[in-house]
Amino acid sequence: MRIGALEAGGTKMVCAIGDESGGIKEQKSFPTIDPATTLPELLAYFKDKEIEALGIACFGPVDLDKDSSSYGYITTTPKRAWADTDIVGYFSRGLGVKVGFDTDVNGSLLGEVTYGQAKGLGDAVYYTIGTGVGAGVMSGGKLVHGAMHPEAGHMLLRVREDDPLPDGVCPFHKGCLEGLAAGPAIEKRWGKKAAELGDDSRVWDLESYYLAQCMVTTTVMLSPKIIILGGGVMHQKQLFPLIREKTSELLNGYIKNSRIDDMDHYIVPASLNDDQGIMGCLKLGYDAANV
Ligand code: ADP
Ligand code: ZN
Repeated sequence: MRIGALEAGGTKMVCAIGDESGGIKEQKSFPTIDPATTLPELLAYFKDKEIEALGIACFGPVDLDKDSSSYGYITTTPKRAWADTDIVGYFSRGLGVKVGFDTDVNGSLLGEVTYGQAKGLGDAVYYTIGTGVGAGVMSGGKLVHGAMHPEAGHMLLRVREDDPLPDGVCPFHKGCLEGLAAGPAIEKRWGKKAAELGDDSRVWDLESYYLAQCMVTTTVMLSPKIIILGGGVMHQKQLFPLIREKTSELLNGYIKNSRIDDMDHYIVPASLNDDQGIMGCLKLGYDAANV
C-alpha cells in the first residue's frame, strides 16, 4: 500500500512516502512557519503522490478523542499560530484519504514497536529529551491517550541540592522533568549549548540523576517492558550507563524482574536512525485505512 507520512514538528515538517513494511521511498522537509503558509506546501507535496492513506504524528497538545468536535486539531499549543488548527480535517478533505493521527511521541513509539527494537513488545514507553520532554506510551498493545494524552515531561522530580538551577525553566511548574532536564534547561544552567558540554561530567551526572528519577517513576507506574530514550540530548551516549546505574540505585532492589534487571536492554537508545517517527506515521496511516 502507498502511504503518506507527516511528522509534524515545531521546527520542521517531515513528509515521506512509503509502505506498511516501513520502507521509505522518498522524503522531504519543510520549515514549520504558520498554517496558512505551511499546510498548502505539505498538501502540494502529497497531492500527486497517489497515496491511499496518510499518517500524521504531531506536536501538541492535540485532540485525539474521536468523539470530540475538535478531534484532529492542534489545540492550545504555545506555538500560537498553530493553536486551534484542524490538521486532520485539512488533509482528509484535501487528499480524500483516511488519515491516522497521534502525538509525535506516540508516532515514534509506534515506529519502534512496529519496525524497531521494541517489535512485539506491547508495553513500551518512548521519551524524547530535546527542546522539551515528551512521552509516548503503549500498554497492552494500545497507544495510551486517556483523557487527553500523557504529558509525562511535566512529572515533578526531587531536585538535587547542588543544582544551580533548582526551579528549572518550565513556565508552569517548579522542578518538573522538562524544566530541569530538556535542552534549554541544560543550556541555561551551564551557560553553553548542550552539544558543547560533552566533556563536563558534572552536567551529565546531574542530567542522569533527573532522567533516572523519570525511569523509576515510569517503571513503577506503567510497568513497561522497554523504555526508549530519543531526542537531541540523548546524542550524549555517556548518559545511558549513568541513567541505568542511577535507576538501579534508586529502585534499590525493590523490583526483581528479568527484563528490568537487564538494564542494558531495558533503557535503550532509539534504533531506527531517526526514522522512528516517520515510520510510525506509515503505520498510523496503514491502520487508519485497515483497522
Ligand atoms: P526538538 O526537540 O526540537 O524536536 P531535538 O530532539 O533535536 O529537537 O532537540 C533539540 C535540543 O537537543 C536542543 O535543546 C539541543 O541543545 C539539544 N541537543 C541537540 N544535539 C545535542 C547533542 N549532541 N548533545 C546534547 N544536546 C543536544
Ligand atoms: Zn512543567
